[in-house]
Amino acid sequence: MSKDRDYGFGTRAIHAGAVPDPVTGARATPIHQTTSFVFDSAEHAASLFNLQTFGNVYSRISNPTVAVLEERVASLEGGRAALACATGMAAQMTALLAILKAGDHIVAASTLYGGTVGQLGIGFSRLGIETSFVDPEDPENFRRAIRPNTRAVYGETLGNPLVNVLDIEAVARIAHDHGLPLIIDNTVASPYLCNPFAFGADIVVHSATKYLGGHGTTMAGVVVESGKFDWGSPLSKDKFPEMLEPSRAYHGVKFYETFGDFGYTMKARMEVNRTFGGSLSPLNAWLILQGIETLHLRMQAHCRNAMQVARFLQSHPLVGWVNYPGLPESPHHALAQKQFRSIDGLPGSSGILTFGIRSPDAAKAGERFIDACEFLSHLANIGDAKTLVIHPASTTHRQLNEEELARAGVRPDMIRLSVGIEEADDIVWDIDQALRQAVR
Ligand SMILES: *Cc1c(COP(=O)(O)O)cnc(C)c1O
Repeated sequence: MSKDRDYGFGTRAIHAGAVPDPVTGARATPIHQTTSFVFDSAEHAASLFNLQTFGNVYSRISNPTVAVLEERVASLEGGRAALACATGMAAQMTALLAILKAGDHIVAASTLYGGTVGQLGIGFSRLGIETSFVDPEDPENFRRAIRPNTRAVYGETLGNPLVNVLDIEAVARIAHDHGLPLIIDNTVASPYLCNPFAFGADIVVHSATKYLGGHGTTMAGVVVESGKFDWGSPLSKDKFPEMLEPSRAYHGVKFYETFGDFGYTMKARMEVNRTFGGSLSPLNAWLILQGIETLHLRMQAHCRNAMQVARFLQSHPLVGWVNYPGLPESPHHALAQKQFRSIDGLPGSSGILTFGIRSPDAAKAGERFIDACEFLSHLANIGDAKTLVIHPASTTHRQLNEEELARAGVRPDMIRLSVGIEEADDIVWDIDQALRQAVR
């Protein structure tokens, strides 16, 4: 691709990181289903191991098919470099373990995806890394929770299932005041609707399992680095000595000095994926690449369909409340307008929305609604081309008591929709007939 042109999102979604195969002429990215790569000579092998030459050694470290996905997502996010991982959870773990060790501390939003709350709050606490969870509604809550041993600030562009919008710029400023990187999970917005780097985030993570893949077939995750965070600044250098000093884990390399604006990604690759092994398989990278080719088209359709469904629910006599940041009535609408790409003049807010049924026994009505749906799929996932529906209080959040449900913002009557890209009229029809059955 020409270096002189700023290609648009849809062009980069199809081409970034890929060229026709120089050996065979294959236009599609080949699946390099191999564990290892032959060295040209003993000298070539030595220089690869010393990180003096870029090249492939073993697919746990790097693979040409996976590299296309990494370059493509880095391009779509406006980042410098990326590292693909086996799942979204592995990507988050890799992003954090690249810069944290026992004794360190994270400040994170309390409204994160449930799996992430478990990873940080329970998983990392077993490794001696503590997390303070704060209400993200007021960005100052992040500042108040920062301690001398804090090493990262963590949030989500759009929460799930609350679909709350984080003020990325305000939280980034607070993190940077303390020499800390802001890590943003951009899974629910996708890079088409929001680029957190444009608002000051330093590292972006994705569960590519969701909208990037888009077909509900493949698990994957990605870590992306903006290339702008200065690990050697006066505020940061004492906090991240392992970015600056010779790596004990990898041939004495000084990651920041040697690789500069992609030093963090190299450290994550060499010290975390290489050592802990959460790497992505070439086949799964290829499947996610097929999805990304239509990301821009699918996200437009998800947003348009979700807006039509939200408006329909708003006007429905059997619906008590609707929560979707695209609606002008949403308390998060202004932030959504600032941070998200506009679709038909409204902030594109992805396909996730929640609502409650107006009924004396709303929780039971919620369960009956789910059972009455015809083609809406009852399952625990989001970001599929298919419309998905779940009643969190009786499924994903079943183990929480009433107080914990309230703290997580999960009302007993809450139904979560991940609106797909079927015909909007058919989605609305299914919701309408299920609503009428639920309260009969
Ligand atoms: C699903 C999800 C994850 C975890 O990703 P997996 O690919 O399931 O491991 C992390 N964050 C968010 C926001 C998610 O929706």
